[in-house]
Amino acid sequence: MTQQENQHDVVVIGAGMAGHCAAIEAARRGASVLLLEKTALYGGSTRMCGGAFAFAGTEVQRRNEIPDSAQLLEQDLLEAGKHRNDKALVHVYAERQYETYEWLQAMGLRFDKVSLSGSQSVPRNHSIDPVLVLETLHAQALVAGVAYRAGAHVERLLTEGEGDARRVIGVVLKDGERIGARGGVVIATGGFSRAPDLVERFAPHLREARPMGGHGNTGDGLRMAWALGADLIDLGYVKGTFGAPVAEPAPGKEEVAPRLVSAMYRGAIIVNRAGRRFVNESVSYKTIGDRCLEQPELLGFQVFDQRVMDQSSPLPTVADYKGALDAGLVKQADSLEALAAALGIDAAALRETVDAYNRACDGAEPDAFGRTSLSTGYGKPTRVETGPFYGLACTTGLTSTYCGLHIDVDARVLDVYKRPIEGLYATGEVMGGFHGETYMSGSSLAKGCIFGRLAAQHAVARAAA
Ligand SMILES: Cc1cc2nc3c(=O)[nH]c(=O)nc-3n(C[C@H](O)[C@H](O)[C@H](O)COP(=O)(O)OP(=O)(O)OC[C@H]3O[C@@H](n4cnc5c(N)ncnc54)[C@H](O)[C@@H]3O)c2cc1C
Repeated sequence: MTQQENQHDVVVIGAGMAGHCAAIEAARRGASVLLLEKTALYGGSTRMCGGAFAFAGTEVQRRNEIPDSAQLLEQDLLEAGKHRNDKALVHVYAERQYETYEWLQAMGLRFDKVSLSGSQSVPRNHSIDPVLVLETLHAQALVAGVAYRAGAHVERLLTEGEGDARRVIGVVLKDGERIGARGGVVIATGGFSRAPDLVERFAPHLREARPMGGHGNTGDGLRMAWALGADLIDLGYVKGTFGAPVAEPAPGKEEVAPRLVSAMYRGAIIVNRAGRRFVNESVSYKTIGDRCLEQPELLGFQVFDQRVMDQSSPLPTVADYKGALDAGLVKQADSLEALAAALGIDAAALRETVDAYNRACDGAEPDAFGRTSLSTGYGKPTRVETGPFYGLACTTGLTSTYCGLHIDVDARVLDVYKRPIEGLYATGEVMGGFHGETYMSGSSLAKGCIFGRLAAQHAVARAAA
């Protein structure tokens, strides 16, 4: 390969949701783009995720008479983040989310189902098969002229100049190959859930959480930019996600079994091995994840009745209770006592817990944990009473890390003095600042798309300047 062939306008590192969106945007603007993926198969965490996108003001919400707006979504994001998010980044999401929804729909992707999830004050998770999204994006990237290379492990960034004049001019692969980027390098390498050293350093409280992100998500992009003095933020807020089933899927069901189950937002309660609740189940699954790690054996058992099972749907996958039952993750029994025996939890205590919970549902007494809704103020909790009963043992998974490189509204990576590092951009799970203290469900996928496209726009303009 000649030196000229190894020069591109924009180089994108990491081919998940965020990297694909950045690459497509840059290529559609006429730039020469190289998308590099470390593993053999593109997709990262995006490939294994629940496929829920948080959008507001959509047709499907209107059809279902769900009153939502960009303003309400923005407010929910800030509330979820306990107002410790970077407000400018949140505002960009709120402003651009609807256009992002249309951008994806224009590729033929359809968001026909909307549901309620963590930290949402109205149902706004628009679900779709994430593999379909990836395959569509990948095909669009190739059509737009993006050059794609799998098995291309970027190890570090190439820079030129010293001090204030230093800028990023390309990347170096693990085998030493150098690749130039005239306009900029976009880091879209995902989180670090598969990097035990970074988990130990930044989130030691999660060392027992089950690593669940993409296998290539070892924090490489974070390290590369950190080496150049990038500002790192939100590291103290990394949280696990409650709802990782403990049982192994039955043979042959490994690929179809849901990786996470959250029946609590449809009415399940969560108890520990002693049969006692330990959390208000309507709060964010991140907060529930923290509480779960305080329980014996790090376990929380979701317990629900037929009324909840009847709300099962294949998408979002977290609500695929029938799929989880079919894969052997969920136990079924005709009585609560039999369910307790099947799950190995204290039957008498479970009965007491359910009776008290049902009295609170009827308004006869206050709920022991203050639960008054299904999720974040939306929907009324329902009695656990209609057999058969269902339950599954879950723990906290480290699905995503949602912290890292501090970026500005153009997705430029900032250094520790809050100055942009010339030629360096970040998007997706590797970026920090957006979520703040905790996470609103469905906001990671769209965030990667929004900031990836902004990064691309800036880098393309830089290449042309
Ligand atoms: C089980 C599960 C369920 C989830 N459900 C949802 C959901 O429903 N909605 C939602 O919004 N979010 C969800 N998330 C989170 C969401 O999936 C991720 O945050 C998001 O997909 C991250 O996208 P990304 O493009 O930033 O990173 P990824 O999709 O992880 O892609 C990063 C890519 O970069 C590659 N890479 C890493 N290092 C290098 C390197 N050095 N050189 C080259 N390539 C490299 C990786 O191999 C990977 O392919 C879920 C996560 C999990 C694990």
